[in-house]
Amino acid sequence: MSHFDVVIVGAGHGGAQAAIALRQLKFEGSIALVGREPEPPYERPPLSKEYLAGEKPFERILIRPQAFWQERGVTLLPGREVVSVDPRACTLATADGETIGYGHLLWSAGGDARRLGCSGHDLPGVHTVRNRADVLAMQAELADTRRVIVIGGGYIGLEAAAVLTKLGKQVTVLEALDRVLARVAAEPLSRFYEAEHRAHGVDVRLGVMVEGIEEAEGRASGVRLATGEILPAEMVIVGIGIVPSVQPLLDAGAVGDGGVNVDGFCRTSLSGIHAIGDCAAHENRFAAGARMRLESVQNANDQAMTAVRDILGQPQPYTATPWFWSNQYDLKLQTVGLSVGYDETVLRGDPATRSFSLVYLREGRVIALDCVNAVKDYVQGRKLVETGARISPDALRDTSRPLKELA
Ligand code: FAD
Repeated sequence: MSHFDVVIVGAGHGGAQAAIALRQLKFEGSIALVGREPEPPYERPPLSKEYLAGEKPFERILIRPQAFWQERGVTLLPGREVVSVDPRACTLATADGETIGYGHLLWSAGGDARRLGCSGHDLPGVHTVRNRADVLAMQAELADTRRVIVIGGGYIGLEAAAVLTKLGKQVTVLEALDRVLARVAAEPLSRFYEAEHRAHGVDVRLGVMVEGIEEAEGRASGVRLATGEILPAEMVIVGIGIVPSVQPLLDAGAVGDGGVNVDGFCRTSLSGIHAIGDCAAHENRFAAGARMRLESVQNANDQAMTAVRDILGQPQPYTATPWFWSNQYDLKLQTVGLSVGYDETVLRGDPATRSFSLVYLREGRVIALDCVNAVKDYVQGRKLVETGARISPDALRDTSRPLKELA
């Protein structure tokens, strides 16, 4: 049985950052980065953007060059799925029957793309966008694909729709709710993106329920709606969120429900085990202390630092400011803060100019901004979010006044 002082499960954004941070903070013990995927750690955001578009080779989306890990004395253990954890013995087991001992365990296993529950959900031609293998599988079919149906109008679905449209495919987006991005943004942003996609030729359909995937010759041939209508397509992309990868921790007794619960230092309820990133349900001060999982590179990286400091005996609670981005066509969306629980929104600038911001307020205080092609607002708005600034809607609306003047 091998043994490492720190074992990190999940070689994605959070896991890689944790290994990097351990060495930055002069940790000299042994580190193993155990991951299910065959590749060294790579960036996930380009999977629905430049990498899917074929604009960036895989080497350019590696989080660090391959040689880095060896140079820093980080043992990569790819192609291993952790299936159980024994917190008493401080060991974990992989699907291949390997046992690995740990001093500290850092769980950063992210999540799996949620699958449809309907008939035909697992047919060839039905894809999700979560890892490199998913994108390679899609790309292998693109030459024979004319029509694509994207199920789910969230960021990943919309980004994929934008890329595939640019590649000349005829794309339809199906969203069950009455607007896209409904779970993450207020209505003006949803309507703006719907209009943009339509202007680029995407058929955006709202309030539609998918009943099943149609099959022809052993492959997906379209999507059947609850209304009975059948939309033909050679490719179906499902972007309906993730299921956090935490079962081994929950089986071991960790507290959690739709993720694993962590405290302000990313500690799970199991001694010696931290969890970070997409799978970690934490209380976020930018959401008035509500427990939530955040799916962003920022959160994975910053929680990695929080957990590492705690492991090294230098605890500092997690208070990082949330931020996120999404690229669609030539639109760069940058968000700062969390809009959870907003009671008012203010539009700053005119969406028709394709450069504007949507400011979210709760009880008169700025809690978040969604900035579309508006880098200045994004940079300057951060301070307003961090201080919970009380600013009148009229002042926020006035684009002649930079946000930094209002801080
Ligand atoms: P991941 O990076 O997902 O890493 C988890 C790793 O653990 C994976 O490699 C997984 O295979 C592995 N794993 C899972 N279970 C096990 C197991 N049992 N044993 C071993 N290994 C396991 N965020 C942004 O901020 N901006 C964006 O524009 C953006 N775009 C995105 C686009 C796409 C297509 C996707 C999928 C995500 C995007 N995100 C974006 C979200 C961001 O990538 C995630 O929030 C981030 O990767 C989370 O890091 P993580 O370490 O928690 O999980």
